[in-house]
Amino acid sequence: MSKLYFVVGSQDLYGEECLRQVAADSQKMVDFFNKKLGDTVTFELLPTVETSEICVQDMRKVMNDDDCVGVVTWMHTFSPAKMWIKGLQILQKPLLHLHTQANEKLPYDEIDMDFMNLNQAAHGDREYGYILARLNKAHEVVAGYYEHEDVLAKIRQFAQVAKAIDYSHNMRVATFGNNMRDVAVTDGNRLSCEIKYGWEIKYWGIGEIAELAKTATDAEVDAKVAEYESKYTMATDNVEAVREQARYEVAFEKFLAANKCHAFTDTFQDLHNMSQLPGIAAQNIMAKGVGFGPEGDYKISAFSAILMKMAEGRDGATGFIEDYTYDLTAGQELELASHMLEVPASFAATKPKIEVHPLGIGGKADPARLVFDSVTGDGIQVTLIDMGDHFRIICADIELVPVPKPMPKLPVAQIMYRHKPNFQIGTAAWCYAGGAHHSVVSTCLTRDDIAMFARLTGTELITIGEDTTEADLQKFFMPKF
Ligand code: MN
Repeated sequence: MSKLYFVVGSQDLYGEECLRQVAADSQKMVDFFNKKLGDTVTFELLPTVETSEICVQDMRKVMNDDDCVGVVTWMHTFSPAKMWIKGLQILQKPLLHLHTQANEKLPYDEIDMDFMNLNQAAHGDREYGYILARLNKAHEVVAGYYEHEDVLAKIRQFAQVAKAIDYSHNMRVATFGNNMRDVAVTDGNRLSCEIKYGWEIKYWGIGEIAELAKTATDAEVDAKVAEYESKYTMATDNVEAVREQARYEVAFEKFLAANKCHAFTDTFQDLHNMSQLPGIAAQNIMAKGVGFGPEGDYKISAFSAILMKMAEGRDGATGFIEDYTYDLTAGQELELASHMLEVPASFAATKPKIEVHPLGIGGKADPARLVFDSVTGDGIQVTLIDMGDHFRIICADIELVPVPKPMPKLPVAQIMYRHKPNFQIGTAAWCYAGGAHHSVVSTCLTRDDIAMFARLTGTELITIGEDTTEADLQKFFMPKF
């Protein structure tokens, strides 16, 4: 179970009785958080920071504990913030500054100097906020009484984002083949990805998968086909094409497990010894939280896995999407996002059908794939691009809508959405910002989640939504002179 340490600030000027009360109140908060948020993360209290030495010891513990995904801090009393400098310099995990109090209401009739010395977050948390700003330390602030539902929801959100960042730092991506020849936005600097986000991006030849697929036993392939039949409707007579995809998925699962990878890429330009492009194999494995990027797109592969991790425990779909084509009817513009094959099965609103059709490019055998209509409702579309000297996340609010008319000749999964605030501004903003044609769509993550991830990882963020105006477009791209 992932863990957050709770570190509370005070100092040794107030005497033993005050410090005992600080520790007791802090433990009460931790118990409350464990009761309310224990399904997402556990909380553990560390010794109250009374000196710089204790702060350093606490932060060493945070850094040395592999189960710990982040730290929550709060100043019960005044805690002179120079005591926090060396500890905060050690801390390299997500940090939440919880601006709260042990007491909800001010006891107007009873309040005396002892009470005010004990309960002075308004004083201590501002001193602490200054040193976080002075140190340029990435952090999130949540303000309010700790038992209030909105505060708990924010702490839960922080825990989910912190878990996703921890997952990011343990991310290993298997790239089978390289980036698709000549494609720009899906390429970039793998070394920068590892330095910034912790992703180990490792190359293997697709022949590794072809070999493993050939050695998959009948029993393994039977079990995989049975899994498909339990979840999907077989709508093809070409069972051998489906069994071939089952072999690929067996091979991917074995390879990823053996090499501790949580995400992978392939490219239709390198399918050496494979008879089909992975279709249902990729769609089914993505629905299990495994990251996938086509055309060698290692960034979207890793990023999609991280966002699926962030979405764990929430209702809705999250996964890889590729932008394709528009309906430009004036005032009713829609986008059809429907990759050649690889739309995650998690987006299915109806029971997907397994079909086999030609691909049109790549010169391989007809691949088996899942065909379905998508879930609808509010969502976000988010991508991460490599700007050469920094990374940029672009997050657009969208509305997933039902397909207005059937498309009987388009044998792929179909996702349609409406851009915000409208087509003209929404898509122009995406283009100005340099958004990729590969992205992650989610009906359960929000702009706030992405903003928190961006803040805690120090990543530039551009958001697009109802609040985006024509005038904003000029901010998204301005040539440097
Ligand atoms: Mn593409």
